[in-house]
Amino acid sequence: MKVLIADDSSALRQALCAQVAQFGYTVTSAVDGADAVAKFQFDRPDLVLLDVEMPGMSGLEAAAAIRRCHDCDDWVPIVFLSSHTEAASIVAGIRVGGDDYLTKPIAPEVLLAKLSVMERLATMRHKLVQAQAELATKNEELLSLTRHDALTGIWNRRYHDECLDREFARALRQREPLALLILDVDHFKRYNDHYGHPAGDVCLRTVAQAAHAVFKRKTDVFARYGGEEFSALLPATDETGACKLAADIRVAISKLRLPHAASSVAANVTVSIGCACLVPDRDHAVEHLLTLADRALYVSKERGRDRVTRASQLAGKSQAA
Ligand code: GH3
Ligand code: MG
Ligand code: MG
Ligand code: MG
Repeated sequence: MKVLIADDSSALRQALCAQVAQFGYTVTSAVDGADAVAKFQFDRPDLVLLDVEMPGMSGLEAAAAIRRCHDCDDWVPIVFLSSHTEAASIVAGIRVGGDDYLTKPIAPEVLLAKLSVMERLATMRHKLVQAQAELATKNEELLSLTRHDALTGIWNRRYHDECLDREFARALRQREPLALLILDVDHFKRYNDHYGHPAGDVCLRTVAQAAHAVFKRKTDVFARYGGEEFSALLPATDETGACKLAADIRVAISKLRLPHAASSVAANVTVSIGCACLVPDRDHAVEHLLTLADRALYVSKERGRDRVTRASQLAGKSQAA
């Protein structure tokens, strides 16, 4: 343990330093309050012994400055040294952030006992801070697990729903377009039947990766919507931009040339995509955007699959951007 000792009397300081060093602690010393604060910031001791009466910056002021030190995230015990033992003086020391008070002259065995108890407290505190950091990391990992799809590693439906609500509200406030793509692998049941479920899983993972690589904006949320369906939420994106992305995804997946012998569409795996975009208004709930994209996907399927359909091109469309 590193101990910082501040006392303006060189005789007392040297005696105290020798004593503490004899107990087996590493010692640094300071000649006044300002020196103590500077040494504290530089040396980062584990414990501070501060004389109360020092010229310039007093021990109380130095303790307050140490406690205000912003880049110091850990608590370090501060023990005051003084020949004054009045209640007011002790209370003032504790108020500015001190932890204990020792009356001069200090008996060596009392000093050693105080140092040990402070060391014990500092160790406990250190373990607590460490445990808190570990807990925070675990919580982050857990949160990430609740938001990701285990098979493909991309966002899951739960996170998609969360983002959809948030982005819909934001787009409404800022009068910005919000686009949604829904992708569905064509004849995937046949793929499973033909190649087996494990091969189907590999196929879904490959398709997800290829589609994921198409998105360039950090704000785009590409998720596994369920089964062999994927969704892409595209904030601040107009219909032309969204359809361009959809077309790129369709081509990227087609280019994978994943054999699909049981498909009636092509010799390889293909996807159908529905593309919807709107500037939200108060007359429509978020489900409206989902319905538009879903309908467009349905039409892609109906018209022969392996294609992109825009919701705005369909009959009965409403308020598409
Ligand atoms: P369509 O072209 O009309 O979309 O036909 P489809 O066969 O793709 O659609 P359907 O909804 O009939 O079947 C989807 C299939 O996707 C059925 C299901 O077994 C399969 N599937 C869903 N989730 C998974 C998965 O996690 N792994 C695998 N291997 N298959 C899955
Ligand atoms: Mg003094
Ligand atoms: Mg489906
Ligand atoms: Mg399908």
